[in-house]
Amino acid sequence: MDNQDLFAEAQKLIPGGVNSPVRAFRSVGGAPRFIREAQGATITDAEGKVYIDYVGSWGPMILGHSHPQVVAAIREAAGRGTSYGAPTELEIAMARRITEAFPSVEMVRTVSSGTEATMTAIRLARGFTGRDKIIKFTGCYHGHADSLLVKAGSGVATLGIPGSPGIPRQLAELTLSLPYNDSETVREALRQHGADIACIIVEPVAGNMGVVAPRPGFLEELRELTREYGALLIFDEVITGFRVAYGGWQNLAGIAPDLTCLGKIIGGGLPVGALGGRRDVMEQLAPTGPVYQAGTLSGNPVAMAAGIATLDILKGNSYQALGQRAEALCNGYRDLFSQKGIPVRINRVGSLFTLFCTAGEVTDFASASGSDTQFYARFFQGMLAAGVYLAPSQFEAAFLSFAHGDVELARTLEACERVLKTL
Ligand SMILES: *Cc1c(COP(=O)(O)O)cnc(C)c1O
Repeated sequence: MDNQDLFAEAQKLIPGGVNSPVRAFRSVGGAPRFIREAQGATITDAEGKVYIDYVGSWGPMILGHSHPQVVAAIREAAGRGTSYGAPTELEIAMARRITEAFPSVEMVRTVSSGTEATMTAIRLARGFTGRDKIIKFTGCYHGHADSLLVKAGSGVATLGIPGSPGIPRQLAELTLSLPYNDSETVREALRQHGADIACIIVEPVAGNMGVVAPRPGFLEELRELTREYGALLIFDEVITGFRVAYGGWQNLAGIAPDLTCLGKIIGGGLPVGALGGRRDVMEQLAPTGPVYQAGTLSGNPVAMAAGIATLDILKGNSYQALGQRAEALCNGYRDLFSQKGIPVRINRVGSLFTLFCTAGEVTDFASASGSDTQFYARFFQGMLAAGVYLAPSQFEAAFLSFAHGDVELARTLEACERVLKTL
């Protein structure tokens, strides 16, 4: 069956034909590609068409697809049983790697998704502080737990309105969503609600409105303000963890949050998430503390084996080299767009980047929203036809992997040159 037929079949059985909305091609049009196989920097669809992949499963595949050592670790672990519902040495090995890589993390709880990690982190912050309200930033995604799916209306301390039907108003009202990179509005919100704020949760480098780096001082101010008001600071490093460094953005910035959320890369392509941080906070989790959290498949041995294999390879890899490769690619893109006189703004942090179809600077959700999404859709379709699989949305990051070599980068830029000629 071709992609169209599979999409028609899938839509009969699965809402929208996809098990996660970001996979649908709603904003770019057409049928999603049904993937049959992936190796290194490429994915192959049901029709046998091969694409250079810049989605990388939305972050986890930093080593490229089907890395032989990761696949071997998965096979070996599966041969010893796939789940026990009892602790294993592998979970200690994972926790040790995370605590060694993140200076702020003294203890770790492993879960099965990033959503579970952030959901548990805010429950823990609420339990620890005895407060109910939380602050997040508009355009930051922290998984789909009720309290975190809230977007703000305009205005500084606007109370949250539900970002999705099904989220009780009473709960949404406890989430304040403020503009990213603007610590003045945070200061103002804390002045007003400080005694009720349990935590501030932030993507230290935003990746879910497209890539937006923190302004110098922004995260430092959040650290100071949370200390001043007795709230916890949570870094959601589900994307940035082991992506921007062996460790997270906090290592590069020299900031110690109280709690850190991880996912994606630490699962090596299997379903994993984790939260970690200060011992006194983490010990509030059951069974040492009263804040409940549990999971049948938490710390799953096959997932742990995949994650550990991935981290051990990453430890010997050069993030600097990966960042330089991404820089070269971004420079190539920028040159091609400017030769054609097409406005573009490329935000890059290490191997993460977004090509915003706009002339202006992109520093928050409002400025990201100014991008020409229709132009992006046409660019996306051209690149797809030319064998380059970009994110099917303007507001996502591109993820470069260690498997993307000179050949893939050159082919990508050749494709871009051809596509821009047709637009
Ligand atoms: C992907 C993501 C999540 C959610 O992780 P899932 O494993 O998809 O539940 C949370 N936070 C950030 C920053 C993410 O990018």
